[in-house]
Amino acid sequence: MIDLHSHSIFSDGTDTPEAMALAADAAGLKALALTDHDTLAGLDRFLAVQPRVATLLVPGIELSCRFMGRPLHMLGLFLDYRDPLLRERVESMARKRLERNLTMVERLQARGVPITMADLEAEAPTDLISRTHFARVLIRHGAAGSPEDAFRRLIGDDCSCYVPFPELLPLEAVQWIREAGGVAVVAHPGRGFPRGFRWDEAMQELKRQGVRGFEAYYPDYGPLEERYFLALAGTLDMVPSGGSDYHGGHKPGIRLGVGGGGLAVPDTVLERLQELRG
Ligand code: AMP
Ligand code: MN
Ligand code: MN
Ligand code: MN
Repeated sequence: MIDLHSHSIFSDGTDTPEAMALAADAAGLKALALTDHDTLAGLDRFLAVQPRVATLLVPGIELSCRFMGRPLHMLGLFLDYRDPLLRERVESMARKRLERNLTMVERLQARGVPITMADLEAEAPTDLISRTHFARVLIRHGAAGSPEDAFRRLIGDDCSCYVPFPELLPLEAVQWIREAGGVAVVAHPGRGFPRGFRWDEAMQELKRQGVRGFEAYYPDYGPLEERYFLALAGTLDMVPSGGSDYHGGHKPGIRLGVGGGGLAVPDTVLERLQELRG
């Protein structure tokens, strides 16, 4: 059992990197990748646990991109996360995220929702503030009844208070990842795109740009979706990756390795991806 997609307190999860590494080991996972959104900040603490666990701890990231007008998330796995160029590139995203957050606060205030950056800073356990933290602050202020409600009415991809950022092209993300010795994998294709989107054509194009695989195993895929993406990976000779997208308490019901219970990413995926690094 392996899990190549998870989040800690360094983005929008609720567990520390150490706790996740130890939990993966206790659960008998062969590998766990920490893939916080647009940050490498948790990886030193994550990898520091490696001597104490049998689970292979994989340094990763989930980069926010835009593809054909929609949000696309690109996972980078097996990164040389200390690479200075990669760190500089990722830090430039953190600055854009901060500006984006300020604009979103202004838009929400203009709609009569009195939230402030200080509220968000108090909600987030580390420097990175994501819409997950916006949702929690909105609930606290009584402006939303639940995270789903917050995303549906106020901060979701199609809401007026949402400000997309930072418009990384998939090609740029691939370049950042490969130049840091990693392998690029599209996260949860099918999420954030319209029904009927031609993933066969899109993935062919993304493969040309250097993407090596995409998630075919994902907790909220139905059996048809999983079968579709597995077949597509076979057709395009790309690696069918997968993971739980664990967020701790921010995604209740999702556990490391097994997702909602039925996730099973084959161990062979790990070796295939490792061979495609850089
Ligand atoms: P950001 O990177 O700040 O734009 O925030 C994106 C994060 O918000 C994602 O990684 C998810 O964890 C969360 N998110 C996005 N859409 C939804 C949704 N509809 N419901 C719950 N959480 C969501
Ligand atoms: Mn998230
Ligand atoms: Mn994602
Ligand atoms: Mn994720």
